[in-house]
Amino acid sequence: MRFSQLFAKTLRQPPRAAEVPSHRLLVQAGFIDQLAAGIFTYLPLGWRVYRKVEQIIREEMDAIDGQELSLPVLNPRQLWEESGRWLSYTPPLLKTKDQHGHEYCLAPTHEEAITDLGRKLISSYKDLPKMVYQIQDKFRNETRATGGLLRVKEFMMKDLYSFHADQKGLDDYYQQVFQAYQKIFARCGLKAHAVEAASGSIGGSFCHEFMLFTPTGEDQVAGCSQCDYLANVEVAKESTVCPKCQKATLKIKTAIELGHVFKLGEKYSQVMKAEYLDQDGHKKPLLMGCYGIGLGRLVAAIVEANHDNRGMIWPATVAPFDAYLIGVDRVNQANRVNRVDRVNQELKKAGVEVLYDDREVSAGVKFADADLIGIPVRLVVSAKTGDKIEWKKRGEKKSQLLSLEEIIQSLKK
Ligand SMILES: [Zn+2]
Repeated sequence: MRFSQLFAKTLRQPPRAAEVPSHRLLVQAGFIDQLAAGIFTYLPLGWRVYRKVEQIIREEMDAIDGQELSLPVLNPRQLWEESGRWLSYTPPLLKTKDQHGHEYCLAPTHEEAITDLGRKLISSYKDLPKMVYQIQDKFRNETRATGGLLRVKEFMMKDLYSFHADQKGLDDYYQQVFQAYQKIFARCGLKAHAVEAASGSIGGSFCHEFMLFTPTGEDQVAGCSQCDYLANVEVAKESTVCPKCQKATLKIKTAIELGHVFKLGEKYSQVMKAEYLDQDGHKKPLLMGCYGIGLGRLVAAIVEANHDNRGMIWPATVAPFDAYLIGVDRVNQANRVNRVDRVNQELKKAGVEVLYDDREVSAGVKFADADLIGIPVRLVVSAKTGDKIEWKKRGEKKSQLLSLEEIIQSLKK
């Protein structure tokens, strides 16, 4: 991709309203654009990152037998009346009416819609278990829409739902999702901690949140300094001494919630009459679990955990491109252009994703933008580098001179 053709503009100054590094850097580097408070466009650079994160999640969901589907964003009022959440959901549902006066909400989550499908498509223990997921737009009536992608009104979410005949089936699958989540966050370059949590609006009997500890997080986690005990502050509120080891007091840390896993049990299936016939021919409510990850928040969290004072430092697995290519040379301008063009062609041919900075701007601007955008490897072609190309990893000080073949070998991995 030639930078001169890219639908993006980097800003020399960070946006004034941005409070957290991910918001500031993603806007400044041209990855996202704010349309209104809490409503963002993913520009091509941001969308490339999003798509890579999405693919990692999809692969891990498919690996635990999740079947992908797509549920509608518009949900009819009566469905949410059935679950009792039309009025009680917090924050209040975003609602709308069609021209006949029928009411809908813009769904913030899909337990109702999936339970409705469960009662239509599952009738016997022979149909169980079933696991389905979607990666789709969701809406939240957010009043404090600040912090860039961390707190928004419209967002992409992966939500997986599972149906089971018995508690053991649910427990086992919950563990599988738990492990899949750890793989997802690790593949995105993040160290996530599973925390016991209160289940809030979603409800159910048991849940964990996956947290990234960071000073900019809006969630709070109570942690023990002596053992590995971690709990949501609501859960830990009662005790100041660690309930697990009894040896130390709990300390509060700030964190970003990356995902959650819930054992819903019979909460929705009971009220919505989603039942199946067991082996003895008895009707029983389906046991359910639900498991979410917010994708925009995950993208922002990757930046919160991977940046310095010059810009972002993308892990190679989710970077918008593999390499950032620059040509510098005042003498022999024509030769240099030919050579850097050739390097760009060769890299492309080898399947390397390159952002080639061919803009008519100073080398200083190109180097600054390379650091800001944070693509893992910067390649410089110049008279000084002779037949070789300068290779430098973002986030490292040292550079080295490599041949084109060596570069292709390293980047193709
Ligand atoms: Zn402890």
